[in-house]
Formats: sequence, C-alpha cells, structure tokens
Amino acid sequence: MATLAENPLAITTLPHLAPALADVRAAAIAEPGFGRVFTDHMVVIDYDEGTGWHNAVLGPRGPIPLDPAASVLHYAQEIFEGLKAYRLADGTMALFRPDQNARRFNESAKRLAMPEIPEDLFIEAVRQLVLADADWFPQVDGGSLYIRPFMFASEPFLGVRPARQYKFVVILSPAGNYFKSGAPAVSVWVSDYTRAAPGGTGAAKCGGNYAASLVPTGEAFQHGHDQVVFLDAAERKWIEELGGMNLFFVFDDGSLLTPPLTGTILPGITRDSLLTLAREEGLTVREERYSIDQWRDDSASGRLVETFACGTAAVVTPVGRVAGRAHDFTIGSGGPGQLTGKLKQRLVDIQRGTAADTHGWVMKL
Ligand SMILES: *Cc1c(COP(=O)(O)O)cnc(C)c1O
Repeated sequence: MATLAENPLAITTLPHLAPALADVRAAAIAEPGFGRVFTDHMVVIDYDEGTGWHNAVLGPRGPIPLDPAASVLHYAQEIFEGLKAYRLADGTMALFRPDQNARRFNESAKRLAMPEIPEDLFIEAVRQLVLADADWFPQVDGGSLYIRPFMFASEPFLGVRPARQYKFVVILSPAGNYFKSGAPAVSVWVSDYTRAAPGGTGAAKCGGNYAASLVPTGEAFQHGHDQVVFLDAAERKWIEELGGMNLFFVFDDGSLLTPPLTGTILPGITRDSLLTLAREEGLTVREERYSIDQWRDDSASGRLVETFACGTAAVVTPVGRVAGRAHDFTIGSGGPGQLTGKLKQRLVDIQRGTAADTHGWVMKL
C-alpha cells in the first residue's frame, strides 16, 4: 500500500462491521435539524513532526482516544471548516468550492501555528467520506450533508509552544432545509463584547473564537434576539460580523456594501461568491467600513433598504430588526428584502445545479 509520502491521496478504508440499520438511519435523517445527527464513518489523518501526514484512514465513526495532557485541551490549538455536499437536480452529489475551504483551512493553520495539509488530501478525504456515507443524504427537500473537517493538537505536553502531533478529522452531519418556509428576517443584538481585535485571530476559523462568542450570543437570546452583531474592538463603531456569518447592506440606489477583510473578519466563501455574482449582475459593490450609527441613520432615512447575513450553514439570512443598549431600529419593512432573495436564489441555483456553473465552483462527486 502506498504511503502518504508516495501518494498523498492514499487513504486506507476500514470496513464498518456494524453500520446503522436502514430503518434507524431513515428515522435519523427524516428530520435531521442541524448538527445533531452523524453518519457511520469518519476520516482521521495523523501528523507527527518529522513524519508529516500519515496513517490516513476512512473507518467507522467513534470516540478518539486523547491523552489528558493533549495541548488542544489546554491551549485550544484547534481549527475547523464547514462545507456542504448538495444533491444536484440530476440526482448526483456535488461540493461547492471545496478548494476554497482547503485553502482557508491552511490559512487558519498558519495563524494557529499548526501544520498545513495538502489541499488535494483535504479534498480527497472529504470526497471519499461523502461517497462512503452517501446513504445518509437527507431526502428532505433542500437537505444536504454538512461536512466538518477539523484539526487539533494531540501531543501530550503542557509547555506553551506549538504541538508536534496533530489529528486531522472529517465527520458528516445530515442537515435539514433552512428554507422550509422561506427564510424569515432575523432580529439582531449589537453586542458590547467584541469578537476579534486587530492582530488577533478573527480571520482564522478556530474554536477559540466561537468559545468567546457564546456569552455575547447568550446575551442576544436573553434580550429576545436571534443573533449577535459584533462591532470592531478598537473603536466599537464599525460593523464586523453577525455571529458566524458575514454581513451585506443594500441601498436604495441598488448598490451593496460589505465590511472589508482587514484581519478581524472571517473571509466567508459565501461572501466571496455573492460579491462575484452581484458584480456580474452589474451591481455596484463596495468593500468598505460601515458604522453602527450610519446603519441606524440610513435605515431611518430609507437610504438603506435591506441587510442580510451569509454563510454556508444558512446561506442567506435577512436581518429585519437591530437592537442594542443604544439602538433599536427596523430595516426596510422588517421582512426579507427583494435583492436579498434574488442573490440567494442565484447562489442556490448554482449550488443545486439548476443554473449554469460558469465559474467552475461546483465539484461533482
Ligand atoms: C465560517 C464563518 C463565516 C462564513 O463563511 P462561509 O465560508 O461563507 O461559510 C463567517 N463568519 C465566521 C465567524 C465564520 O466562522
């Protein structure tokens, strides 16, 4: 059998002796929701300083043995990605821009002092796992297989330095339809907490960023809102992100604005795809800072007509109301906006193969 050094795509497949029974699986994926149902298999690839990536195995999903001193448990050296396998109109499955996830994963790895993984190995691990668990694809309209690749420091060591051992893992979670009744507009809470400081890890997809966002998100829920808006850490003035999604603003002249990628914002692949599609439509799109006060004033004057958030999990989510200690205002009519719906449809049509994929974004499996 070829080693990873000889063939970076050599992933060993172990048989699964007790996969879920067909009726158990059918029940699990009938109403999968998000992130609580998992498939039969997983991919695990080890990394050792010296050996590099090795021991790539696609096998039964199960607990991972971990030394209690593993550095991830103490210093949070962990990164992840999130992408989906979609069912195309012709019945086949496809990934959407998986090369971008692989590239971003390695950007995150660099920021967290972790080893990079060959992009083709990342994509191959995802591809083989999705094919192995294709039976888990939810039959519900608009369902998908949510793919979660991640990497963590497994070396047992309590000193503070980059670990010398890591595990790269991929798991799958059948996901339901976010569009069941058409995405309603969400209500958002402007937090006094910040998510990412200049020079920090805001542009990396690491678990630590999410741990720090739980209290502000809980505060948003307590105040009766659906999501949290983060302002910049330096001036507490510029709008950055909505929880785990990027934000777009739509003006009455039909132009769009989204905050620029200055290192404190996660560079979303949905964000990038929508920027491309909007520019193709001939819309004026600016990547510029936008302040919370301007957002309020423009909403009041009617200059701002729509706001939406975007990300892989929920694709596009309209924002209808904005509140915070110093704010409470409604955007447009408070419901989903027209351009928001149109851009979402453009993207979903490409992802589902009902519109031409002119950018080479769709990778058929
Ligand atoms: C993953 C993520 C996004 C969205 O990225 P997509 O590639 O579009 O899914 C936005 N913000 C944060 C903080 C994220 O972690």
